[in-house]
Amino acid sequence: MITLQSIEKVYRTDTVETQALSKINLEVPKGEFLSIMGPSGCGKSTLLNIMGLLDVPSRGDVRISNESTQKLNDKQLAHFRNRHIGFIFQSYHLINDLRVLDNVELPLLYRKATAADRKRLATEALAKVGLSNRLKHFPNQLSGGQKQRVAIARAIVGLPQIILADEPTGNLDSAMGNEVMDILLHLNKNEGTTIVMVTHDEQMARRTHRLVRLFDGAQVQ
Ligand code: ADP
Ligand code: ADP
Repeated sequence: MITLQSIEKVYRTDTVETQALSKINLEVPKGEFLSIMGPSGCGKSTLLNIMGLLDVPSRGDVRISNESTQKLNDKQLAHFRNRHIGFIFQSYHLINDLRVLDNVELPLLYRKATAADRKRLATEALAKVGLSNRLKHFPNQLSGGQKQRVAIARAIVGLPQIILADEPTGNLDSAMGNEVMDILLHLNKNEGTTIVMVTHDEQMARRTHRLVRLFDGAQVQ
């Protein structure tokens, strides 16, 4: 589903050069739930952003469903991302002055879905994360776990084949974290969604199919 071929990432500024990733080769088969762990600064977010086509590698190719993304321009990358990939972040990234339902509808605006379709799909996505009773709330009226469930609904509303999650349980206590993990595991198992999750939590990682460890931008064998 996702293939990383000899990925390197170097961040350059006027004064410093940081090799964030070196020679990463990784194959994530369709339907896998993969965890990525490693110390702070080892390149986890960079790797996830490159997998999600939010950032481009300095060298190497990211293949999604066996299609190279190397030659795509920004517009094509955005299109690809919107069609295939849902993102979840540690800090939710919800829009506070939009109601829950409107937050979840956002990715569909880009697809030019009709208002009725947007509402129906967003309502279905929110039902999948157990939030049918919070459609008209604003994010600030929700707990952290509920906010992350809204973010999951927003990630899945377009029915992506891939979900990329950057420390989705990082701001949650263990009960809420486990609830969020239960939802991700359910999506993976029942809808076959391929999931890659960065986490600091060994217990969460243990619930997934496979764990890849990074150290200093390289995969630990
Ligand atoms: P992690 O997610 O594991 O904490 P990151 O992928 O955020 O690690 O960062 C990997 C390395 O790249 C770190 O040394 C970090 O300082 C550096 N880095 C990340 N983003 C940038 C950037 N935009 N510009 C320069 N250096 C960066
Ligand atoms: P933190 O919890 O430290 O704020 P996040 O999990 O929010 O970090 O973000 C992880 C990475 O994803 C960062 O490198 C950030 O630049 C990137 N990112 C966050 N939100 C978006 C977004 N809406 N679009 C693109 N990139 C994003």
